Amino acid sequence: MATELTWFGHGSWAIQTGDSNVLLDPYLDDNPAASCKAADLEADYILVSHGHFDHVADVAPIANRTGAMVVAMVEVAQWFADQHQVAHTTGINLGGTLALPFGKVKMTLAQHSSQMPDGSYGGPAAGFILDLPEGKIYFACDTALFLDMQLIGAEGIDLAVLPIGDHFTMGPADSVKAVKLIEPRRVAPMHYNTWPPIEQDVEAWAAQVEAETSAEPVVVEPGGKIRL
Ligand SMILES: [Zn+2]
Repeated sequence: MATELTWFGHGSWAIQTGDSNVLLDPYLDDNPAASCKAADLEADYILVSHGHFDHVADVAPIANRTGAMVVAMVEVAQWFADQHQVAHTTGINLGGTLALPFGKVKMTLAQHSSQMPDGSYGGPAAGFILDLPEGKIYFACDTALFLDMQLIGAEGIDLAVLPIGDHFTMGPADSVKAVKLIEPRRVAPMHYNTWPPIEQDVEAWAAQVEAETSAEPVVVEPGGKIRL
């Protein structure tokens, strides 16, 4: 089966690949931009980039209902096991790669903070590279622009998923600079239009990507799908 991504709004994604349902940062029930509710989703694996509420809010309910494995920074994975009795967790750390049945998951640097909703230490924030049979996806997750994105790009990225919202992450101008560092084949925006502080003109961003980079911008509405 081909790999298909679904954007649920904000930083929340589903990646259906092979026989696996993979979720990234599910934040649905309290997310004003979400296209569905947590109870609607199935999952085998849940990737978590950092501890902020708008990335972890629905992780435990989905994991505890479906039995999904939570893959996250060691401190974040331990927090789900200790505080929410999530049965299956795997903690990894920056630079580490985990081989899973659907492909490899590498945890990358992100320039952002990370604290759990109860104030617990969440370790550093992270992004992910998914190495799948159909290609490589880089989820930058919440981050500022950083020059080491060149190293991530050197891995050969088919689809980069970048925040463009500004305020809490890099904004549209820096995300275009990120595209120039990563040089992905295609690029999709996320982490915008959830709340007023991160409202952005996504069509203007896409036009700038087309004008200034070799990447193809792929813009979908919440609920929209991208085939890898
Ligand atoms: Zn955050």
